[in-house]
Amino acid sequence: MNDNLQRLVRVQEIITAVDAAQERISAIPAEVGRLEKELLAAQKEIEAERARVQELGKDRRRLEMDLMGVEAKITKYQAQLLDVKTNKEYQAMLHEIEACRAERAALDEKILLEMEESEKRHAAVRGLEEALERRRRETSQGKVRLDAETQELKGRAETLEAERQSLEAGVSADYLQPFLKVARQRKGLALVAVRDERCGGCHVRVMPKLIQQVRRATGLIACDSCKRFLYVPDEPPRANTVAAESPAQ
Ligand SMILES: [Zn+2]
Repeated sequence: MNDNLQRLVRVQEIITAVDAAQERISAIPAEVGRLEKELLAAQKEIEAERARVQELGKDRRRLEMDLMGVEAKITKYQAQLLDVKTNKEYQAMLHEIEACRAERAALDEKILLEMEESEKRHAAVRGLEEALERRRRETSQGKVRLDAETQELKGRAETLEAERQSLEAGVSADYLQPFLKVARQRKGLALVAVRDERCGGCHVRVMPKLIQQVRRATGLIACDSCKRFLYVPDEPPRANTVAAESPAQ
């Protein structure tokens, strides 16, 4: 492989890596947004639960007022019992008192149920408050982590871009310009290896004659099928491979 091609292969790797980094960077704000949205939903949930607890408190105060009214009635009727003149009036008064007592028992029951419900709701609110606290921590930690990731990716992309610039400075224009043009059209993949006599881009067979041209070429040669530029990767020297493997055997 000539030097121009070798440099372009690395340029292409850089373009792909930078694109991936940019894609990840642009996905991060949405992730931050999702964290914030979840936190907001947890806050709303807790507010709704607190409102329910407040409503229950109001219900109870109303029931307690009713209870006081019924107890006042019972006291009043009991006092009146002493003043009734006839048995019929007496019976009627007893009947009223009975009715009031039944009402009082029903109210007592309702108040008790309300208190139990209130306790449950209070416990639920406490649970939600703890969950909210955890979520707050997770959200801020998540944001710190995503921010650090963004900075790291930006740094990596800058380093790669610097490497790319110095590489491109060493590539002759008759290689660089066609390569960049096709790279823009093909989402970065402008230069593909020929392996097993197939184009690494479209996998269509490359004729041996064309492969020979690619090997000898002093310029860029495109695949007939997908128009990406072809290169034949250098074989690793066989002797070295054997030498590297032998100590382990
Ligand atoms: Zn092809």
